[in-house]
Amino acid sequence: NDAMTGAEARVRADDRGHVFHSWSAQGLIDPLPVAGGAGSEFWDYEGNRYLDFGSQLVNLNLGHQHPDLVEAIEKQARSLATIQPSFANDVRGELARRIVDVAGETFSKVFFTNGGADANENAVRMARLVTGKRKVLAMYRSYHGNTTTAISLTGDPRRWPNEPADGSVVHFFGPYLYRSAFHAETESEETRRALEHLEQTIVLEGASTIGAIVIETVVGTNGVLVPPPGYLAGVRELCDRYGIVYIADEVMVGFGRTGEWFAVQGHGVTPDLITFAKGVNSGYVPLGGVVISKEIAAAFDERAFPGGLTYSGHPLACAPGVATFEVFRRDGILERVKDLGERVVRPILEGWVESHPCVGEVRGTGLFWAIELVRDKETREPLVPFNAAGKDAAPMGVFAKACKDSGVWPFVHFNRTHIAPPLVITEDELRRGLKVIDEALSEVDALIA
Ligand code: PLP
Repeated sequence: NDAMTGAEARVRADDRGHVFHSWSAQGLIDPLPVAGGAGSEFWDYEGNRYLDFGSQLVNLNLGHQHPDLVEAIEKQARSLATIQPSFANDVRGELARRIVDVAGETFSKVFFTNGGADANENAVRMARLVTGKRKVLAMYRSYHGNTTTAISLTGDPRRWPNEPADGSVVHFFGPYLYRSAFHAETESEETRRALEHLEQTIVLEGASTIGAIVIETVVGTNGVLVPPPGYLAGVRELCDRYGIVYIADEVMVGFGRTGEWFAVQGHGVTPDLITFAKGVNSGYVPLGGVVISKEIAAAFDERAFPGGLTYSGHPLACAPGVATFEVFRRDGILERVKDLGERVVRPILEGWVESHPCVGEVRGTGLFWAIELVRDKETREPLVPFNAAGKDAAPMGVFAKACKDSGVWPFVHFNRTHIAPPLVITEDELRRGLKVIDEALSEVDALIA
């Protein structure tokens, strides 16, 4: 109707006129005006509904407008909307305690930040201060955030325009069997050679110069790369041997994405610092942080930590964080993620490797999967080149459009689509969305036939 169209036109005009968007050439984008959302869906002003298969930016773990989270924010807003970080506050303290409880006995404290980038920024700062060593190792094919240290850690093209980056970061190759940097043919070979490569990097860079290794437990945006068995345990061992702080970036995978509180727990490994954001409160209010081991926390008992933020542990952000813990327990979120991932997603996706010429590999865990699209299964040539944009990226555009036209908002990155829906998605919605993706893949099959 006209009123609806008027509202949409206003939103679009304000956006196009005045909102400067992330990572974009401002004149080449046309952001969809979103009118609302509930659970796993959101909708536009024309009434088109989309199943959110990327959970926004893989942060909307409990879906849109979850009543418990909304209520927690409302209640907190009425009681105390803000209080600066040097005071003790009930929800801030309770959230920190609950996070430490699930992280395990190695940990004692949480430093709250506004998001993931500044969580990594501060984790690296802690590691440098406790070790007295400045260099940091991070992976190619990684994303750690857009502030100076975090973008320097990043091993993808988002770093390039920000260079020269912090020169104290050195990149190495992580395991990625489908496109192995080590010519490996089995998982165990990949694990062993990736660890040898990491150890060589440490030795040649000088263990005495390296304060931290930062690793996304499951590489997120750059491909849902689940580390093969033994890899993270090997990293832990190298960190111990060479006196290096192990920082697990769990910004994307923490809080249930893989069916664990923290994904490292599925690998039987304990890092020294864990960074988180996104899923801690589904992004309803910006929040991130660093979970700190007892040992590192104790290093700042007598000595001041030289870092802080006006909004560290903001009560409006912590209140839905506390509510997140209640919902996870009451609704068995971790169990349902494991169940849906293994019982529903895995068999369907594995079938696509057989049924679709364009599907080179599928991989994942929990409700976190990647489908790698190729031109040729034999050569594994990606459907679109690395870092493709514009015309080069067109085949992925065909895929995305087919999904959207049938009511699924897909997560697309380079030659991959990721399956990362809200953890509260119903089985029916999940199956419906996967059917849409199946059909969209058939359109790509036709393109390369
Ligand atoms: N680390 C990882 C693994 C991420 O996926 C992201 C964001 O996508 C970040 C860090 C940065 O988080 P933020 O955008 O909240 O700064």
